[in-house]
Amino acid sequence: MSHKLQVGEMSVAYLTDKDIWSHFNYIYSPKSKNSTTYKFVLIKSIIENLYNVNDKLELSYDRIFSSFAKIYWNLVIHHDLNQINMVGKRAEVQNVLLSLQEKHGIPNSLVFDKLSNELQVDTIMKVKKKCKINVMGAIYGDTSGAIYDFDNKKEFIKINSSFYSFMQRFQKVLTYVTNYHLALFLEKFNEQGDTTKLLLSVENVSKRTSLDHFYYVLESFYGGECFYCGKKIKNKSNSHVDHFIPWSFVQADQLWNLVISCSTCNLAKSDKLAKENYLSALIDRNNQILGMTDMRGREDMQIYTPSKLEQLYHFSIDNGYTDFWTPIASD
Ligand SMILES: [Zn+2]
Repeated sequence: MSHKLQVGEMSVAYLTDKDIWSHFNYIYSPKSKNSTTYKFVLIKSIIENLYNVNDKLELSYDRIFSSFAKIYWNLVIHHDLNQINMVGKRAEVQNVLLSLQEKHGIPNSLVFDKLSNELQVDTIMKVKKKCKINVMGAIYGDTSGAIYDFDNKKEFIKINSSFYSFMQRFQKVLTYVTNYHLALFLEKFNEQGDTTKLLLSVENVSKRTSLDHFYYVLESFYGGECFYCGKKIKNKSNSHVDHFIPWSFVQADQLWNLVISCSTCNLAKSDKLAKENYLSALIDRNNQILGMTDMRGREDMQIYTPSKLEQLYHFSIDNGYTDFWTPIASD
């Protein structure tokens, strides 16, 4: 099946877990001809956007390629890693990024979210244009059209519902496996580059450096008190924008999953899930946000529903987040 396809329709309606595991085995095997890192990064991008689908399980290219461009930029520019299996050659998306870097005189140290807004948008558009032709049809072809529909004109994919449920149930292990295979590929085809602690770099390649802009949106909620323990937050420096569902699981930053907490709570909670009563508190807070005209138009709020957050909470338990946390009542 050609990867230059423009439209691909889903070939099967129902897939068993066994079918899906065998598709993943194939994608990660030498048989699937991964001459570049595109497929690994596409899977990472879909995982990052798992809760950004609409009620028909459709996911826009803009969302997919915002993640894709960010990950690729951080790998190619920030970590200086080659993305193709040939010495002296470069993957096409790599060329796109390197020429943008040169044109704007950007130092290697800069991570994607430190670029200006305009430049981020420009990069995402250019990456999307390249990947529409090179990437969307490749995984579609590898899985014989089983896991998603795609349409390069309308620019969205529609995820097979059994595949979607599989991704939710095995999200954590799929993230591990994908990072592992991406790191393995990069290690093989990079002699100089930044290959020390490669797996760690790959695991953190999606991470934003600063969540400050969320702080300013959220600071007025809860009367300036910590979401968890209720202590007054004196200033920004002794507080944190906290991922309610841990970042290590969601790998994404959406307003509806973020709260402001004091440093003590943020450190103590760390990678754990807060007790269920906090889930209801967050749903209430999000309802409050949805009631505000200037806030509900935000991109991340448009796809939010309380049931989405509940699902995410329960799937994180299914994925092994079973160590529940609650602040110790101190005073
Ligand atoms: Zn606190």
